[in-house]
Amino acid sequence: MTPDPLFDVPVSVLRRALDEKKVSCVELASLFLDRIEALDPGLNAFITVDRERSLAEARAADARLARNEAGPLTGIPLAHKDVLCTEGMLTTCASKMLSNFVSPYDAHVVTLLKQAGAVCLGKTNMDEFGMGSSSETSYFGPVTNPWKPGHVSGGSSGGSAAAVAARLAPIATGTDTGGSVRQPAAFCGITGVKPTYGLISRYGMIALASSLDQGGVLGASAEDCALLLSAMTGFDPRDSTSLDRPVEDYAAGINAPAPDATRPLAGFTIGMPREFFSEGMSDGIRAALEDALAQYRALGATTRAVDLPNTRFAIPAFYVISMAEASSNLSRFDGVRYGHRAAEYADLVDMYCKSRSEGFGAEVQRRILTGTFVLSHGYYDAYYLQAQKLRRLIAEDFKRAFAECDLLVGPTAPVTAWAQGAMSDDPVQMYLADIYTTPVNLAGLPGLSHPCGFDAAGLPVGMQLIGNYFSEMRLLTAVHRFQQATDWHLRRPPISGAAA
Ligand code: GLN
Repeated sequence: MTPDPLFDVPVSVLRRALDEKKVSCVELASLFLDRIEALDPGLNAFITVDRERSLAEARAADARLARNEAGPLTGIPLAHKDVLCTEGMLTTCASKMLSNFVSPYDAHVVTLLKQAGAVCLGKTNMDEFGMGSSSETSYFGPVTNPWKPGHVSGGSSGGSAAAVAARLAPIATGTDTGGSVRQPAAFCGITGVKPTYGLISRYGMIALASSLDQGGVLGASAEDCALLLSAMTGFDPRDSTSLDRPVEDYAAGINAPAPDATRPLAGFTIGMPREFFSEGMSDGIRAALEDALAQYRALGATTRAVDLPNTRFAIPAFYVISMAEASSNLSRFDGVRYGHRAAEYADLVDMYCKSRSEGFGAEVQRRILTGTFVLSHGYYDAYYLQAQKLRRLIAEDFKRAFAECDLLVGPTAPVTAWAQGAMSDDPVQMYLADIYTTPVNLAGLPGLSHPCGFDAAGLPVGMQLIGNYFSEMRLLTAVHRFQQATDWHLRRPPISGAAA
């Protein structure tokens, strides 16, 4: 394939190329669809691609451009995580349970992005129902990390992350319940943002754990993420937790000139939680993080140590709460209201049992069982209620920390992408790798992961920045200014065909 330079440029450059008619929306969509066709067999980042449908959307975008009615995303191709309902198109959640489910309606974010004129390239692979950190529990097979064959792409939005990293899509949507945008972004060397809980409507986003789930964005840079994020936020009365706040133009905001151009991060106080820099972090991650922090300081940021003493409770609290909510949310997939129905059964109860046993994979079944257990009489107080109390303590830790600083920093994950299968026999070991991302969801705060180096095996390292509620602009601004001075976000895996 002759590399067309447009597959690896910022969304703002695609915007200009479209506006100046250097390329049409149809040509741009075809470029990415061709790349998916050529490269996705080696990655398995997509579950569904419908070329005709994408090209029809691109033609509509071209018509809109011709009428001078284009918005910032008109004609920009993107991929949707397969947890988002898309009208008339398969929405599987990477489960056998929904393997033939064609949604009758669009998720709110899908509607918003359609209205903006973005062109959907397809639906990306993920962990089944978002349960996992490696995109290996998919009914459609695992996603491969574009940086290293045989390694995981992270999860659960691993398909979106791999697609963006390999430049099969310029930007992609994801969802993040306990790290599912940030951790795959880290594993694939791209930028991923999970905003404040309530900023993005959950309507039509198939629920894992409703009090933790939040839509998010994946892109090559903070600037690309900013463009997508602004288009996805906004009040939606159909989600009772959607927040009625004015939509912010993040892309415009982060490009406002810094007061002191030589020290663009002057005035940013970044807290380093001691618990995030304790032992348990691999040497490669520590070294990359320290270099990036030195760069943040060189750009004018101040760093200081802070404490998040209840961090050690995040994993147990997160997994108790998320499994409890999942067991309730997934009860609708019973072969009657939704989902796969067994071909043969003796009676109603047998039909439920067989349908759910056949339709759900092992991890999903494990979580439904555990979630039902922690909510059951006699155990509710011992597990679920305790977990809710820990959740409050974790949120209060953050509140105290944000009295002293405006952003917090740490690794996104304690390890880089592991070999496929390495953790499959030990689910708890995989849960433990979510230590730095889950506290952010428990508190409902915004978090971002950006690439900050590579480990000795050549795998990308992600740095996580956490902001106070509604500080997305500050978070994106800090990372945008860091990225203007560094080039980690420009590195591409060899499979992408981009110049190194
Ligand atoms: N890795 C976490 C889990 O397996 C979080 C997943 C997510 O954010 N959807 O539950």
